[in-house]
Amino acid sequence: MSDTPSYGFDTLQIHAGARPDPATGARQTPIYQSTAFVFRDAEHAAALFNLQEVGFIYSRLTNPTVAVLQERIATLEGGVGAVCCSSGHAAQIMALFPLMQPGCNIIASTRLYGGTVTQFSQTIKRFGWSAKFVDFDDLDAVRDAIDDNTRAIFGEAIANPGGYIMDVRAVADVADAAGLPLIIDNTSATPYLCRPIEHGATLVVHSTTKYLTGNGTVTGGAVVDSGKFDWAASGKFPSMSEPEPAYHGLKFAETFGPLAFTFHGIAIGLRDLGMTMNPQAAHYTLMGIETLSLRMERHVENAVKLAKWLEADPRVDYVTYAGLESSPYFDRVATVCPRGAGALFTFAVKGGYEACVKLVDSLEVFSHVANLGDTRSLIIHSASTTHRQLTAEQQEAAGAAPNVVRVSIGIEDIDDLIADLDQGLAKATS
Ligand SMILES: *Cc1c(COP(=O)(O)O)cnc(C)c1O
Repeated sequence: MSDTPSYGFDTLQIHAGARPDPATGARQTPIYQSTAFVFRDAEHAAALFNLQEVGFIYSRLTNPTVAVLQERIATLEGGVGAVCCSSGHAAQIMALFPLMQPGCNIIASTRLYGGTVTQFSQTIKRFGWSAKFVDFDDLDAVRDAIDDNTRAIFGEAIANPGGYIMDVRAVADVADAAGLPLIIDNTSATPYLCRPIEHGATLVVHSTTKYLTGNGTVTGGAVVDSGKFDWAASGKFPSMSEPEPAYHGLKFAETFGPLAFTFHGIAIGLRDLGMTMNPQAAHYTLMGIETLSLRMERHVENAVKLAKWLEADPRVDYVTYAGLESSPYFDRVATVCPRGAGALFTFAVKGGYEACVKLVDSLEVFSHVANLGDTRSLIIHSASTTHRQLTAEQQEAAGAAPNVVRVSIGIEDIDDLIADLDQGLAKATS
């Protein structure tokens, strides 16, 4: 089912990329737990190694189970191809790697997943790359931050914790005018709520660890290419447009056209960085993705109900969720993610740090974990965990003030979730 763009989302999330196993007729995609694949003959092997023929060589590069997931995610995002890798953070490096050289920089939104802030502000410096963090609601600031060494703009469609919705189209227009690719982390939204390529994104990255797998079993990531960027136009992306010595001077952009970024990701990225997704993980994610739309509908429905219930509760100071009319980002939901603002938000508890710690310790249905996008409802008090090394000012700026907890709303019975928070808040604020 590869050439079937006319099918609806619910059909594609089950069928895209998959076909009955040609050897056995197995209807579910088998886990091809094999490191290597036998060549038909020496000529076939040579063609594969020259990238003249597409096929399976060795599972660091390609694997039939992972390939089904790649095609599935690319189809759901409306891209031409995708490369899966070992985690969401691996996907971010895989997305930047073909674009960057020492001395190059990216423009990144100030509203990003905490781990991404660390990766971009600290770790990528060791590659000679850097990130300039800018408020993406200030388009002039984004424009002003771009310089001759800028190679990409990076943001999140729905950003946690602050209930932020990015105006993807507005930033895409700035990127277009500067001849730069826009990379969107679509982890919190998923392609069911937002399809960034339709809003002008060049590349979409995912932590498949979260909603795409949906059940908290495996880590994984994906880079999806829109196939729309002209890598040769500016001369800024030599790895894509100039002769590649490791493949006899082959030029990826010229040879593979719209699929250039995907082929580069496999033939250079996975080959040399080795951040490969294993077939077992791809299997779990394929199982999860079959029910993505059903889960996201319930995640959003529960999140809206709980956010409204909390906002009306006198023990709660405020709730930051873009699905509430009180949110400054409420109006963007209709254009950026019309099916809902996701299921992650924060709320402030009267009683501050002590009350938050007591709340987290008192809950029975919610789990206290550093994860999101599980079927289970999750809660974390960032100030005493993920953000405890930061100063009070830094915590405040990150939306992780001492009086704030973050929740990832699951798909359990809404009455049970409300009752759990109700008894937890009673203990926390008594
Ligand atoms: C979890 C997450 C990541 C990192 O993904 P891993 O799979 O944990 O490496 C990146 N971005 C967002 C928005 C995330 O939620």
